[in-house]
Amino acid sequence: MKEQYISTRGSQERLTASSAIIKGIASDGGLFVNAHLNRMNLPLKDWLTCTTYSDFAQKVLGLFLTDFTPSQIEHCVSQAYETGKFSGREPVRLRAVGDRYFLELYHGPTAAFKDMALTILPHLMTASLKNTGDDHRVLILTATSGDTGKAALEGFKDVPGIGIVVYYPKDGVSIVQERQMLTQEGDNTKVIGVVGNFDDTQTGVKKIFGDKQTAEQLSNKNIVLSSANSINIGRLLPQIVYYFYSYFELVRSEKIALGDEINFVVPTGNFGNILAGYYARKMGLPVHKFICASNTNCILTDFMNTGVYDTKRPFYKTSSPSMDILVSSNLERLLYDLCDEDASIVKNYMDRLNTDGFYRVDEALLDKVQALFYGGFADEAATEQAIRKTFNEKGYLMDPHTAVADAVYDAYVEKMSDKTPAVVLSTASPFKFSRSVYTALYGQSEETANPFEELKQLSEKTGVAVPKPLRDLETKPLRHNTVVEKQNMATVLKDF
Ligand SMILES: *Cc1c(COP(=O)(O)O)cnc(C)c1O
Repeated sequence: MKEQYISTRGSQERLTASSAIIKGIASDGGLFVNAHLNRMNLPLKDWLTCTTYSDFAQKVLGLFLTDFTPSQIEHCVSQAYETGKFSGREPVRLRAVGDRYFLELYHGPTAAFKDMALTILPHLMTASLKNTGDDHRVLILTATSGDTGKAALEGFKDVPGIGIVVYYPKDGVSIVQERQMLTQEGDNTKVIGVVGNFDDTQTGVKKIFGDKQTAEQLSNKNIVLSSANSINIGRLLPQIVYYFYSYFELVRSEKIALGDEINFVVPTGNFGNILAGYYARKMGLPVHKFICASNTNCILTDFMNTGVYDTKRPFYKTSSPSMDILVSSNLERLLYDLCDEDASIVKNYMDRLNTDGFYRVDEALLDKVQALFYGGFADEAATEQAIRKTFNEKGYLMDPHTAVADAVYDAYVEKMSDKTPAVVLSTASPFKFSRSVYTALYGQSEETANPFEELKQLSEKTGVAVPKPLRDLETKPLRHNTVVEKQNMATVLKDF
């Protein structure tokens, strides 16, 4: 049976992978999960036939996208990972640095790990439209606080039958991030600044999704709305791949033996990245612990220690903005699996979250979380110190998100004396957050008016090259200049 995707909240809806990818979120507000996850456990040696990143990607996606043909999957994978969008021979790089490994996931077109999934999602969506026989066009709407928007624009640019509109808070993203978006190419892309903060922007987008009049106008033109954020199953599945790939890199280079357990350290925000690792483990990957690293917004650390997920707390803006999140949506998928797929339990927790702003999981569920996850956080001082220490002592340059993970891993080893080999997921180029990195290493720079000067200075002082997508930014022409008040966010769609 190809209808394998069901909601975490228990509605009777049962969809194919293609329909779940187009739809994004279940009708009852839940997230789509694969009903056969428990049957996907393969013997480890089955993966030994895979060598390239694309081999692993095809095998993983083949298990989940059961209504896709093998040649569709092969096409999507090669379009994403074999057409020169990533800078290396393989899309990701595993580096030994001191006692740990860094899995660099930022060598794609926008220099952040979102590229791992957003380079392939558009191709999965195109194939999904074909598989479902839909002849309509898709309009992707996304609100971004920085990284997702650019990665989605780059992924969807010039994809036939799909248009993309990204809304960002006019004064809420970094100068480099804004310039990345405003120089976006592609005839099907539109970037819109919103007067307001990220919450205003996100609320505005949600409103458009819920607005009957807009839906009707679009439907008259044969257009459906969809989204590219990390609750879409089509973004989650491609992230499973690099967990397998990195494990087998360690086996191939004889750092570990086949079957040895390793740990993964994951800088976490919406819980998508680390959940993909959990799925890899369900599929048979030998993982001892997932170390879930947060910044000062340490809601996940508290949850893993106490079983209480409480959003009634102050929100901090940190140097790792992609982890400044209080509602980690993908945690819902973990809870669903850990409570033995009992959707009524999940629905109850999510209802509580909506009405009371918090929920507490029962003792048995908390035990299961703690058996596999360790939660820790690094504040701003610890993050800066990690950047400085790792560069000065090991010559390795980290961005603030990766530094959070690195600092939490240090504390973990100190506390638990766990010597299991560890892979730290490295999620952004340090040059994407050059001001924070520069300040951590050399103290406050003179407020350079020109952020591109800052990139150059960081590169000169550290001897690390600026990644190409960021290097070209200064000279690229600006192609977008629309700014709207938040109440006018829907009107701009009309002329698009
Ligand atoms: C999105 C992002 C994260 C957080 O990943 P989640 O899947 O949301 O947990 C961490 N670091 C960077 C640089 C990101 O862009």
